[in-house]
Amino acid sequence: MPIFHDTNHRTWSLLTGCVALTCALLGACAPPGPPPPLRGATMGTSYSVKVTALPATLSRADLQALVEQELQQVNAAMSTYDPASEISRFNRHQDDGWFSVGPDLAGIVMRARDIGARSGGAFDITVGPLVEAWGFGASGPRDLPPSGQELAAASAVIGIHRLLPRVEPPALRKSVAGLQIDLGAIAKGYGVDRIATALEAAGIDSYLVEIGGELRTRGRRHDGAMWRVGIEQPAPDGRRVQLALPMHRDGAVATSGDYRNFVETNGQRYAHIIDPRTGRPVDHRLASVTVIADNCETADAWATALSVLGTSEGYRIAEAEGLAALFIERDDDVFKETTTPAFDAWLSAANQSPQETENND
Ligand code: ADP
Ligand code: MG
Repeated sequence: MPIFHDTNHRTWSLLTGCVALTCALLGACAPPGPPPPLRGATMGTSYSVKVTALPATLSRADLQALVEQELQQVNAAMSTYDPASEISRFNRHQDDGWFSVGPDLAGIVMRARDIGARSGGAFDITVGPLVEAWGFGASGPRDLPPSGQELAAASAVIGIHRLLPRVEPPALRKSVAGLQIDLGAIAKGYGVDRIATALEAAGIDSYLVEIGGELRTRGRRHDGAMWRVGIEQPAPDGRRVQLALPMHRDGAVATSGDYRNFVETNGQRYAHIIDPRTGRPVDHRLASVTVIADNCETADAWATALSVLGTSEGYRIAEAEGLAALFIERDDDVFKETTTPAFDAWLSAANQSPQETENND
């Protein structure tokens, strides 16, 4: 029985088995089903949290408050849509001296910089002025593509080497006044991890946490089956599942794709992911990239990085990094999959797990 999660830009399908439904229909199975999922809005999209069971000391309202509190803290540090957030204040700051921030923001900038370097500059959290110039930023879509002059002005203030993070004491520094940070490609994953950590601290050891399609699972569903994550077929109008990914061990899954999030300007379609090396939206046949990692921040950032790189260069880097990645290219109605060895290993480990063997019998 597929359960569809509608978000702003994409629908994710989380496939659940029929056991719960069958039990409900027969009215004969014990124990009772899991608590209904928590849902809400955050980061311009939606979130959902499923837990297998609530600890005796925690009510559903407590859990919702816990989740909301984590999200509030993440947004207060990292939302570019909140003018009072740390990141917005740093973005407005025009000086080249150290700017004090909390350890969370300094830490994510450090890690984002590291992925930037490992991806050969494809992942770049200073890309904001270009995102804005192409009509994907807070000021919204535009009628015409940016002029060469605008692009040159935006390019002059981007570059990860112009941003210095410091952990002790936590602070950021920019070497050019117009530098901006945009954590849009990593913050959802980070938010998922923060919720996951908070759930674990509250004694919850089986869950599925999702923000805007980026998700992390731990343990098993309430019926003992593996969590399954539907990887959507990357078509703007489609809601079909390309692959039901079995979560045979704890992990996170993120997908980056331009099949639904794009703008049409002057009859031309532009993707919301920018290649910082060219200053232009990515432009290749790659429709989506899915990455499995231990935590969702890593999966989210690498999914975007590999989207920029495209299948051949992305595959090479993903393989060298030992990343589990699935690239889906679209050619008319044909979807071509390319998987890294680590992704294949994930699927075969799932197929060999005792439960999967039982299910397939
Ligand atoms: P989605 O929002 O669909 O989950 P991503 O996780 O790939 O997609 O993030 C896309 C966002 O990341 C863009 O809206 C923009 O804010 C930012 N971004 C665009 N290009 C890059 C890039 N090359 N490196 C880092 N961030 C980027
Ligand atoms: Mg991302």
